[in-house]
Amino acid sequence: MSFLPEAALDELKDLLGPKGFSMDSDVLAAHNAEARGKFEGHAEIILFPASTEEVAKAVAICAAHDIAIVPQGGNTGRCGGAVADSKQVLINLKRMNRVIEIDGRDFTATVEAGAILQNIQEAAEEQDLLFPLSLGAEGTCQIGGNLATNAGGLNVIRYGNARDLCLGLEVVLPDGTVWNGLSKLRKDNTGYDLRDLFIGAEGTLGIITKATLKLFAQPKHVATAWIAVPSPECAIDLLALARRHTGDAIAAFELISSFAHDLSVTYLKGLTRPLATKTNWHVLIELTSSRPKDDLEVLLVDLLAQAVEIGLATDATLAQSEAQRKNLWAIREGIPEAQGYEGGSIKHDVSVPVSKVAELLKRGMVRADALIPGIRPCPFGHVGDGNIHFNFSQPATMDKQAYLAQWESLNSVIHDIVAELGGSISAEHGIGQLKRDELALRADPVKMRLLKEIKKALDVQNRLNPDKVVSFKHPDH
Ligand code: FAD
Repeated sequence: MSFLPEAALDELKDLLGPKGFSMDSDVLAAHNAEARGKFEGHAEIILFPASTEEVAKAVAICAAHDIAIVPQGGNTGRCGGAVADSKQVLINLKRMNRVIEIDGRDFTATVEAGAILQNIQEAAEEQDLLFPLSLGAEGTCQIGGNLATNAGGLNVIRYGNARDLCLGLEVVLPDGTVWNGLSKLRKDNTGYDLRDLFIGAEGTLGIITKATLKLFAQPKHVATAWIAVPSPECAIDLLALARRHTGDAIAAFELISSFAHDLSVTYLKGLTRPLATKTNWHVLIELTSSRPKDDLEVLLVDLLAQAVEIGLATDATLAQSEAQRKNLWAIREGIPEAQGYEGGSIKHDVSVPVSKVAELLKRGMVRADALIPGIRPCPFGHVGDGNIHFNFSQPATMDKQAYLAQWESLNSVIHDIVAELGGSISAEHGIGQLKRDELALRADPVKMRLLKEIKKALDVQNRLNPDKVVSFKHPDH
């Protein structure tokens, strides 16, 4: 038995065939689970369309039977955005995974929305080009999901977010109409920017089915260093110095607390401590250049010497080989896993202006400790774009469940500080269900009104990913 009328089930099965339609609970299990465990889906039907035409027809069938749809990519999001309830149909785009074209003259990639991010990076690299979006989930997440959440990652400081990397989109609208906005244009001043409306919309306005992406010249040189810094303030000043000193060469600039560093090198196998000296804060910096003759190591050594001289750094080491560079990145990227071995972690993927990062950390640590004495701050992240993973590990002796029960209270404390500093409560993963009500409370009321008006204008029946990002009830429902 299903909530869908027999006629609708038959239409969907006929359209998509056995590979494109499933009610198998084993198949559904992986798609109903969300990794952090805060949200669980209950979908009974999942569709795996193989083309834009199939997506459009499936959406039209659901619309005709007044059935809500939840788009899903690699399901790596952590805010309940890609999970469906038992009366909603999941549409997963994993079969639409082609890199359709790499264009070496326009420097573009045209891809289906289900293409895995890493596969796009590799396809570009095969043509000696770079698709710079890079994040921990790149082996699993799909470009459609990256665009729907406006993902950032390690190279935002140099190349921008998913939004900055997208030239055009093809989108299936809630009634099954297809908007063909695929484009290689770098400049287009013809009215409202529809592409930007769908980016970051978390599948609430349309299902992204294809995208045209920007590519760049592949870097020919890379220089990477691990730096001991006395404080986050010094890290921010070091970033400003590095920007001036290296021009546009900074590809990544990550701030790492000593607690986060220690967890990684203690718990993860095969990692070597980069520096012998003790320090409270670390920076991982990477410079890249696509100009064959650039000597980035000289540039970096010179920068580090200046930084030590004026007290912004106390020690530093340059990666002398690809193995050493990988070790540095493994320490940084292993932090979330390593933190898992220290019990419960309450997380905040927030952003503030770069100049306010130190203040966020200072106020956050004091107020978090006032709420939960003995709490262990574990901040790290993309300080170059103000996007900090302001994580907190539980006090060493506290019960894990008792600690996790404080999730909302601690979120509220940190988000208050984020608001005081003019920041954003979501700099990764989006809003989904997790932050929907908080967004409604904290956002500018005019912004909230406009978000709802846009949702109503594009999805008047509230059938596409309902109750994610914004909540509204259509008067006829
Ligand atoms: P899903 O999780 O499946 O879906 C996410 C949202 O997008 C849902 O609302 C869904 O409905 C919607 N959606 C999915 N596909 C489509 C589509 N084709 N059309 C319309 N809507 C769609 N983010 C950062 O910004 N920076 C980081 O550094 C970063 N690091 C991460 C590291 C790890 C280990 C993990 C797990 C996540 C990280 N993230 C980061 C978050 C990451 O960006 C998102 O998880 C990812 O972009 C979502 O892609 P997905 O394909 O898994 O989408």
